[in-house]
Amino acid sequence: MSFTVAIVGRPNVGKSTLFNRLVGKRLALVDDRPGVTRDLREGEARLAGLRFTVIDTAGLEDATDDSLQGRMRRLTERAVRMADACLFLVDARAGITPLDRELAQMLRRAEADVILVANKAEGAAGEAGALEAYELGLGEPIRISAEHGEGMGDLAAALHPLI
Ligand code: GDP
Ligand code: MG
Repeated sequence: MSFTVAIVGRPNVGKSTLFNRLVGKRLALVDDRPGVTRDLREGEARLAGLRFTVIDTAGLEDATDDSLQGRMRRLTERAVRMADACLFLVDARAGITPLDRELAQMLRRAEADVILVANKAEGAAGEAGALEAYELGLGEPIRISAEHGEGMGDLAAALHPLI
C-alpha cells in the first residue's frame, strides 16, 4: 500500500486548496468505501518527485459551533488512523485559535508523524501567525501558500525522510 498522508486542521485553513494542488485531477474513486466518501477525500499526490496517497478531511464546513469540536475530533482521529503521516494545517493569517490548540493536543499523542504547516504564509501578513504556531509544541512550522504554490519544496523536504 502506498504511503498515506492526511491533511488535517480546523475548517478554512486551506486543507482542500492544498489537496487540490497536490492531486490535480488524479482523484481516486472511493465511492464504494462506505463512510469514507463524504467526509474524507482520497487522491494520488505528486509533490516534487514524491508520490503518496493524500486524504483531505472535509465535511466540517456545515457544522454548527457546538457540534464542530466533537465532529472535528472524530473525523481527524479517523483520518489519522488511516495515515502514516499528517500535515497539520494552521492559518498563518488568522493566527492560532482554541480549536487549533485542541487538535494539536490530540496530534501530539498520535502514532502518525505530524508535520506542522503554516498555510496562507505568502507575503508578510503570515509571519506573526507562523511564529505563534511554535507554541503548539509540534516543532517549526513549514510556511507555505497552498493557493500560490509557495513552500512546496520545503513541504517535500519535510515529507521526504518519512516516505
Ligand atoms: P479548508 O476548509 O481547510 O478545506 O479550506 P479551503 O481550502 O476551503 O480554503 C479556505 C479559504 O482559504 C478559501 O477562501 C481559500 O481560497 C483560502 N486559502 C487557501 N489557501 C490559501 C493561501 O495559501 N493563501 C491565502 N491567502 N488564502 C488561502
Ligand atoms: Mg475543505
